[in-house]
Amino acid sequence: MNYPENPYFCLFNLKNHKHLDSMQFKDVIGQSAIKQRLIASVRDSHVPHAQLFLGPEGNGKLPLALAFAQYILCPNRSEMDSCGVCPTCQKMQKLVHPDLHFVVPTAITKKVKKDPESDLFMEEWREFVVKNEGYIDTSGWYSFLDVENKQGYMSVRDAASLLRKVNMKAYEGGYKIVIIWMAEKMRPDTANKLLKLLEEPPEKTVFILIAEDQDQLLATIRSRTVLVKVPSIDAASVETALQQRLGCTPQQAHDAAMVADGNWLTACHSINESEDRKFFFTTFQQWMRLCFRAAYSEIIDFSSNIKTLGREKQKELLDYGLRIIRNALLFNNNLADIVLLPDDEKKFNANFAPFVKPSNLAEIAGLFEEAIRHIERNGNAQIIFTDLSFKMIVLLKMK
Ligand SMILES: [Zn+2]
Repeated sequence: MNYPENPYFCLFNLKNHKHLDSMQFKDVIGQSAIKQRLIASVRDSHVPHAQLFLGPEGNGKLPLALAFAQYILCPNRSEMDSCGVCPTCQKMQKLVHPDLHFVVPTAITKKVKKDPESDLFMEEWREFVVKNEGYIDTSGWYSFLDVENKQGYMSVRDAASLLRKVNMKAYEGGYKIVIIWMAEKMRPDTANKLLKLLEEPPEKTVFILIAEDQDQLLATIRSRTVLVKVPSIDAASVETALQQRLGCTPQQAHDAAMVADGNWLTACHSINESEDRKFFFTTFQQWMRLCFRAAYSEIIDFSSNIKTLGREKQKELLDYGLRIIRNALLFNNNLADIVLLPDDEKKFNANFAPFVKPSNLAEIAGLFEEAIRHIERNGNAQIIFTDLSFKMIVLLKMK
């Protein structure tokens, strides 16, 4: 028998997220005015050789740059977008087109122990960008590379390598495109070397610099580039995208768009957080109900389901339980006012509180903490959860 169907059990595997396999203009959320401007520049053959896409985090500067690059190179582009299917578009979508070059901030990692530079991380970069459809930020990139607390930067080696590449002929005879992501991470010597390149641009090469903090950019770099100010995404577009891409309800999408302030990453984060919380609440509630009913065989099914969650989620579920247990102390001491939870969770917590008493509180909390330690040490989750449940059956009945 399977554990009673809980829609949230599959959430973390499926996330009902529709992954896009293209990064064309149609896949860029909002930003219609900028798209029109970029499209017009190609149509009128007025693509500046160096542009600076400047604007706040999470607004889709990189997806715009990628869609633009693809539009420039696609031999079958329409009035609106690249074709998305030709060999050029296919290579662009996988970020493997030989005339598409990237410079990105990097740092020392376990893999690259000295002299980091973009070329050494291109495999990771492609994976990370494609997976996130171009909506990324530096902290996500650094944690993907596992650079720990180090700050990423672009070294003079990056500039030297770029110089070599742009001085070669384009592989496919068309334009070469250079995307410099987070240009403010260039060290001064890197920027100066790049500056020479921008002053005497090689033929048929388009530079797209992406930056968020213009104060950190050298003034000379700014003066050598055409500024494209990319604003935050409009709330209506964020709302629509949340419904279409993440399958959010209109209400969920509206709430998340309100807090996101035009930042797609913040919007996704807020959806994940509320879904996570809902998941932990529902799961913990169901689990405790099984313990109250002393439903042994269902507990075994439950634990076997929990096994499929992955260690991080198992730990978070136990952490959530620990919070509810500690809150019980507040409820029992007439301090319910200081418990900040959504209504449904608070109501459950209030009903649960009388079963946590001075006589069993320390033992229950201790068991949850112990379970967390065992999960961290790679213990068998099914055994840990079954064992904890059987002990809870006894403890919850304690007078
Ligand atoms: Zn194409």
